[in-house]
Amino acid sequence: MPYGQKKKEKYNSIDIYALRAKEKTKFKHIFTQLKIKEMIRTVNLSKIFRADEIETTALENINFEVKKGEFVAIMGPSGCGKSTLLNIIGLLDNPNGGEYYFDGLEISKYSERQRTELRKGNIGFVFQNFNLIDELSVFENVELPLLALKVKSSERRTRVKEILEKMSIGHRQKHFPGQLSGGQQQRVAIARAVITNPGLILADEPTGNLDSANGEQVIQLLEKLNEEKTTIVMVTHSQDHADRAHRIVNLFDGHIINERIDRKVYTIGQPQLLSL
Ligand code: ADP
Ligand code: MG
Repeated sequence: MPYGQKKKEKYNSIDIYALRAKEKTKFKHIFTQLKIKEMIRTVNLSKIFRADEIETTALENINFEVKKGEFVAIMGPSGCGKSTLLNIIGLLDNPNGGEYYFDGLEISKYSERQRTELRKGNIGFVFQNFNLIDELSVFENVELPLLALKVKSSERRTRVKEILEKMSIGHRQKHFPGQLSGGQQQRVAIARAVITNPGLILADEPTGNLDSANGEQVIQLLEKLNEEKTTIVMVTHSQDHADRAHRIVNLFDGHIINERIDRKVYTIGQPQLLSL
C-alpha cells in the first residue's frame, strides 16, 4: 500500500472528537481537513419538553450527520420531531441529552447568547409561514441580518439589491409583505436567509403553503444555492421535493427510522436493502 494511502487510512480512523487538546494540536492539519468536510453531527441527541406535569419526548437518540455541500431532506408525520431537530441544528434550541457538533464545535453546552452569536451570519432559516415582519418593507426585511452584523449602509444597499434581483423580486423592494403573493413572500424570506452568505440553510416545510408552481420555484432556488456550495437541510411533506435532495432521512416518533440514499432504503444499523 502506498505510504500516502496508509497514512490517510490511519487518520480516517481517528475520532477527532475523542482526541485530547494536546493530541488535537498534533493532528491539527488533519483535524482541520476532517472538520471542513462535516457541517453537522449529532450523537445520541435527545429532547424532552416538560410542561406542567406532561413530558413529551420529541427526539430520542438521534445520530444524524450532514456533510458540507449536502442537500438533505427530512420527512415524517406531523409531530414526529422534525421542527425540534431543525431548531436544535439551527441553534435556536438546546438538546437535553447527547452531543451536537456544528462545524466541529460541540455546542450543546453553549449559552443562549453564545448560540445567537454563532448563528449570526452562519445559518439562514426559511419557514413555512415565511415569518417576514409585516411592518417592514421587502428591502428592510432582507436588510435585517446585515444590520445585526453591523454592515455599513452603502454595502447593505448594494447587497440587498443584488440578492433581491437574484430572487427575481427586485421590483418589489418597497412593498410590504402583505402586498405580496405567498410565492413572492417566500422568495423574500430566502433572500433574507442567504443575504449573509451562510454556510447552512435550514428550511422547515418551505413549500408547505405554496401552490405547485411557486413551490417548484422555491425548490429551484434551493437547488441553485446548493450548487453554489450552501449546505441545505429541508423538512418537507412532499415526496417530489424530497426526491430533489441528495439524501432523505425519515423520522418517526422522535427516532430516525431509515435513510434513503441514492433512492435506496436502508434501515439504520441493518445493512440490507429494504426496497427500491
Ligand atoms: P413536527 O415538526 O415533526 O411536526 P415537532 O418537532 O414540532 O414535530 O414536535 C415534536 C413533538 O414535540 C410533538 O409531540 C410536539 O407536540 C412536541 N413539542 C414541540 N415543541 C414543543 C414545546 N415548545 N413544548 C412542548 N411540546 C412541544
Ligand atoms: Mg414542524
